[in-house]
Amino acid sequence: MVSKILVVDDEPQVERLILQRFRRQVRNKEYEFTFARNGKEALSLLSEQDDIEMVLSDLNMPEMDGLTFLSKLKEIKPDLKAVIVSAYGDMKNIREAMNLGAFDFLTKPIEFEDLTATIKKTLKEAEMVRQAAFAKELEVMNEKLKELDTMKSRFFTNISHELRTPLTIIRGMADQLGKDPEEWLNKGVLMIKRNSDNLLNLVNQILDLRKLENGNLELNLVQDDIILYMRYILESFHSLAAQKDIKLTFDSKLSELYMDYDPAKILRVITNLLSNAVKFTSSKGSISLIVGQQDKKLVLKVQDTGIGIPEDKLTNIFDRFYQVDNAQSRKGEGTGIGLAIVKEFVELMEGEIWVESKLNEGTTFNISIPIRQNAELKQSSSNEEVQGAINIMVGGNTEIAKEDIKIEIAEQDLPNLLIVEDNEDVRQYLIACLQGKFNLISSENGEEGIKKAKEKVPDLIISDVMMPGKNGYELCGELKTDLLTSHIPIILLTAKADEESRISGLKHGADAYLAKPFNEEELVVRIEKLLDLRRALQHRYSNLENLTPSEDEAVQQEDEFILAIREAVLNNIDDENYGIPEVCRDLAMSRSQLHRKLKALTDRSTSHFIRSIRLQKAKELLLTTQMNVSEVAYEVGFRNPRYFSTTFSEEYGVAPNEVRK
Ligand code: ATP
Ligand code: MG
Repeated sequence: MVSKILVVDDEPQVERLILQRFRRQVRNKEYEFTFARNGKEALSLLSEQDDIEMVLSDLNMPEMDGLTFLSKLKEIKPDLKAVIVSAYGDMKNIREAMNLGAFDFLTKPIEFEDLTATIKKTLKEAEMVRQAAFAKELEVMNEKLKELDTMKSRFFTNISHELRTPLTIIRGMADQLGKDPEEWLNKGVLMIKRNSDNLLNLVNQILDLRKLENGNLELNLVQDDIILYMRYILESFHSLAAQKDIKLTFDSKLSELYMDYDPAKILRVITNLLSNAVKFTSSKGSISLIVGQQDKKLVLKVQDTGIGIPEDKLTNIFDRFYQVDNAQSRKGEGTGIGLAIVKEFVELMEGEIWVESKLNEGTTFNISIPIRQNAELKQSSSNEEVQGAINIMVGGNTEIAKEDIKIEIAEQDLPNLLIVEDNEDVRQYLIACLQGKFNLISSENGEEGIKKAKEKVPDLIISDVMMPGKNGYELCGELKTDLLTSHIPIILLTAKADEESRISGLKHGADAYLAKPFNEEELVVRIEKLLDLRRALQHRYSNLENLTPSEDEAVQQEDEFILAIREAVLNNIDDENYGIPEVCRDLAMSRSQLHRKLKALTDRSTSHFIRSIRLQKAKELLLTTQMNVSEVAYEVGFRNPRYFSTTFSEEYGVAPNEVRK
């Protein structure tokens, strides 16, 4: 390979000398020399030729001297090695050149052998620098590939979640319909239909993506009034926006505009942007679709007052599978392909798309597409058709769900079960499976779930993993570390059936894991098993005398709690006034919290539990001391020996004076 060397010198004989001396190397295509008369010329040569590997430069030259040249060189090509040539004894300038980054220096008159060696050495160094840069490039490429890989695997996880959720409902509802057709006919059919729409939409989007990848997607243009079409699209979003209490407005400077467009693709573009806007805007916010014309272009804006997108993420959001990675943005789950498709479609229309956003203030997506009028005049779609297509795309008309599929939750004397699930249909399906067997409380997200769990202290919790705000793992972690709720068994429901997430769930303290799609029987068996474990715990605490230490960390935690109460009571055993308020004070819990927790662990009320600690102590005293019954009664905080005898008999089935026999 030929190495290119730039020689910068104002003396013409240098050129002749070098070409003569290196004749052999030039002929053998080892070296190729380029010559410049001064710094200026050298810089312009360098800007044209990218493959020069080293520079040999004089210091004293007209126009631009060597030192100035060196400092400019450092700016434009920091990696290019320069060797300077100067008069022997011109040490000051040589030092300065070296400080400016020169690689080496030669003194005049140049010795040929020295020059040859220096060129060799410099080229070798340049080669090493090049290789290091290449390695770095590879590394960056590798990083990028890795990133793409994680994005893909996240995409598959999300896709499988999105497939499994509707499948769970379709399968589950088919079961319910088989069992009780009358009860489920209307709701069941509706839910099945809506969830198959979801699946269909997902599959369509994935297919579009494939077609885009293969370049097989083309435009089916019609010429029609696009303003009216936009109006239809926006109208179809009214009910969805109303459910979230979001104001939706249409703002067009044009009353009509006949132009060529592909209705299906425009529909998908606007629907994706509007559903993102709805997804990432909280209630009381507003969304507008603004339409205008600029020169020969149609300009569309979808503007929201939502959570916004961090500035450093703006360049990524059009990437396939990309989702801004924070809890708030993970809200609607999704798969991260919506915007990738939007961008590809807009480009197919020879248009442009760009985004402006401010974190916590809102986002505007802008699209411009050329206005042309060549296609056949034809009505694109009716309002109903648009509505139908959008219903499929945004997961059916959710309003129906709220009105018709509501199932009454009755208060009965059954175990209390809290369901935490953001998907309305899955929630309803769970209710369908569990009603009649449990008292059900439900909650739409992790945050609310945690609040309800602390308020109601249910007997068991079933929670989805992927949820807006706090996810299932966070819910688990938070409830399991709070003394008040640590004993409640939690079942995590998830689409992630893989081992890793199972372990992650168990690490956060989940008691069981159920992968979607699950069936009713599986679910009920899991719940019963966990409730059995709870009963075993109650049995454990029915007799505190011989509490054997447990291996299980979770049980140890509960033991500690029970033993702390026992200790508090025992420390005040002869104080008849030491009761519920005092225990609450000593354990820093509210009366109702203490009551719920104790009831769950021991199946006894707080006063009952305190009394049983006193009675146990009494039994011990009767068995190990000579104290008479009245003395024992006073010793354990009973003022009335007769009352003591009655409660003792109730608890142990024998009167205190018979214990010693
Ligand atoms: P999908 O559309 O495939 O169901 P998605 O909505 O997460 O999933 P995109 O539509 O491609 O995927 O959006 C990518 C990401 O860009 C979103 O996950 C979100 O983080 C961010 N984003 C998109 N639109 C908005 C918006 N209007 N406000 C805030 N963030 C947004
Ligand atoms: Mg989207």
